[in-house]
Amino acid sequence: MTWETVIGLEVHVQPATRTKMFCGCATVYGAPPNTHVCPVCLGLPGALPSPNAEAVRLGVVGAIALGCEVHATSVFARKNYFYPDLPKGYQISQFDKPLATGGAVQIESPERGPITVSITRLHLEEDAGKSLHDRIPGFTAVDLNRAGTPLAEIVSGHDMRSPGEARAYLTTLRQLLVYAGVSECSMEKGSLRVDANLSVRRPGEPLGTKTEVKNMNSFANVERALEAERIRQIALRESGQEVRQVTLTFNAATGAVKPLRTKEDSHDYRYFPDPDLPPLVLAPSWIDAQRAALPELPAARRVRYETTLGLAEYDAKVLMQEPAIAGYFESVVAAGVSPKPAANWVMGEVLAGWNESGMFAVEPVRLAALIAMVDGGQVSLQAAKQVFAELLSSGDEPRIVADRLGVMQVRDTVALTSWVDQVLAANPDEVARFRGGETKLIGFFVGQVMKRSAGKADPKAIQPLLVERLKS
Ligand SMILES: [Zn+2]
Repeated sequence: MTWETVIGLEVHVQPATRTKMFCGCATVYGAPPNTHVCPVCLGLPGALPSPNAEAVRLGVVGAIALGCEVHATSVFARKNYFYPDLPKGYQISQFDKPLATGGAVQIESPERGPITVSITRLHLEEDAGKSLHDRIPGFTAVDLNRAGTPLAEIVSGHDMRSPGEARAYLTTLRQLLVYAGVSECSMEKGSLRVDANLSVRRPGEPLGTKTEVKNMNSFANVERALEAERIRQIALRESGQEVRQVTLTFNAATGAVKPLRTKEDSHDYRYFPDPDLPPLVLAPSWIDAQRAALPELPAARRVRYETTLGLAEYDAKVLMQEPAIAGYFESVVAAGVSPKPAANWVMGEVLAGWNESGMFAVEPVRLAALIAMVDGGQVSLQAAKQVFAELLSSGDEPRIVADRLGVMQVRDTVALTSWVDQVLAANPDEVARFRGGETKLIGFFVGQVMKRSAGKADPKAIQPLLVERLKS
């Protein structure tokens, strides 16, 4: 008898604000420890929090992008627990009155095709600090730069049935939030974190006991960790043992999950409304304005790429994966290049460079100028790739680089005719055979002319000249 896997995800994303959730400290990444702190985020007695309007706005935009209902009134609550990186002894979060509830995301399941994953809620909260275990030998150090950083927690329904679906959901969710401008969603920089809940059951049975898996640093590792946890739970159940409600940590090196501690229930946190913060009240007209100002989301953009721009489904998908890539592609098209060649260049040379360095070394206008030279027959496609490689390290215009490399194609009839005549004079036997009916020798002559011109002759212009000369 088979087992059914049930997965739900809690995703924390950091709204792209310059300052923290309840104080004016900067949210910079990678600063020296404890350099962006103040009485509010240090939790000093008497310091009063004040909500960051931009964090609230980005939370609302994210909620709208996920199809949630945004509540006009939500309440900040204290989540009480002790930990060295939490100097206040509580985290400001939202509990029974969150910012938004009841959304949905369409994803492509690797096993079931298109499915809907429900979004239970999106609420705002602040991050804790960070314990550093490798900074001072024998000690744990605490860095409070992250304490008070805004977070939007997005809780999905238990709608996923495989680790692959969890990964597909994360990919779609990230794309939505990046396109909506809510967050950078970088797992590397900690602006997106995933906690995954998983349980197994026999089909038709009520939900089994779930465990929570943490400490995954990529979407691929979320999939690996959930696969390991699914196997662990099934092995327990098959041998007649119970699954205990625990939190597990994933070890990317070994691919194993290890129980960390028994999981807290929400009543352990003794939530209560934060007496320092009044309820968060948003005007319905302001929420509507955020909805109206929402940028084009991935689904709409994909349709536009396939219909208006006439791109193949695959090309549209690849270009859209990263908003930065899509933006670059659109700039090339805006500079006057047809969508198809623009797509080919971006998916080839440009994407290769971006994957390596995360940057675009060649500005869209310079690439557009290079593509126009290929279209105009001034350089061959092959030579254009050589020029592009030079553009990566040079600020020059493509035409100047092509000249410098000596790859501008020669289409001048006088020069071409001279090469053609030299070739015909040097190969009298082949000329006789051609005139005797061996017309496929035309390829040989074109090749000889290309050779004589050191590759600079425009092959499209050579053939008619050859035919003309051979016939006379
Ligand atoms: Zn602060």
